Amino acid sequence: MRKQFAVIGLGRFGSSVCKELDKLGHEVLAIDKDVEKVNQITNFSTHAAIANGTDETALQSLGIRNFDYVIVAIGDNIQSSVLCTLLLKEMGVERVWVKAQNDYHHKVLEKIGADKIVHPEQDMGTRIAHHLSSEKIIDYVELSENYSIVELSATTKVKNKSLVDLDVRANYGCTILAIKRGANVNISPAPTDAILEGDILIVIGHNKDITSFEEEGL
Ligand code: ATP
Ligand code: ATP
Ligand code: CA
Repeated sequence: MRKQFAVIGLGRFGSSVCKELDKLGHEVLAIDKDVEKVNQITNFSTHAAIANGTDETALQSLGIRNFDYVIVAIGDNIQSSVLCTLLLKEMGVERVWVKAQNDYHHKVLEKIGADKIVHPEQDMGTRIAHHLSSEKIIDYVELSENYSIVELSATTKVKNKSLVDLDVRANYGCTILAIKRGANVNISPAPTDAILEGDILIVIGHNKDITSFEEEGL
């Protein structure tokens, strides 16, 4: 379903959010107080406006209250980010997502009712650390402290072996959810399906089990 988003602050983070939402086919209003930033986004958003996110009247005249989501991506100026978030919540915007700069910023945003607070630099740092720790790890989703879904590159060690041959569940305690091969994704692999070199295995399980599969099985 096509949703309506407004993004306030078009730094690297805000403009990436805008462009991706636009690509996904959503309606996106891009807002920045800097005319240059607004000019750069016009081809990658549905509407673009020069406005100050801390100006209540300006926000009202953009009809900000009617958007499904408003993303506050004002980075370095914590005061503006907080004030903008406060105004949006007071105006009745239902879902306000905010990029936080640090833990104090996070605490204040929580108190004033931000619906979701994101820390892209920290999150990206964590993700990259996982990639660095093993070249086999393509991506991962943390399900809880102990459980994850991880994408692992199939190595020559498992080439032409089937899921039965490997018996991953019995040997390592984790489950292969899907096998990606180029653009194709086999989402319910049969036990006899063979793994080819270059395949990407999507594995779910306890972190400890995934690590042992990754280190010993691949
Ligand atoms: P990134 O790391 O994503 O590049 P940043 O954390 O460095 O961003 P800034 O560059 O400080 O963040 O701010 C992002 C954008 O927010 C800038 O384009 C800036 O013009 C815009 N901005 C800052 N204050 C306001 C405001 N009050 N209203 C609208 N836009 C604002
Ligand atoms: P982020 O957006 O991830 O918070 P940033 O891209 O804004 O970071 P900076 O704040 O410029 O990057 O630098 C990050 C850290 O790198 C800082 O703690 C700074 O002290 C350190 N740093 C910068 N230059 C050097 C240098 N030449 N040698 C060692 N450390 C450095
Ligand atoms: Ca930054």
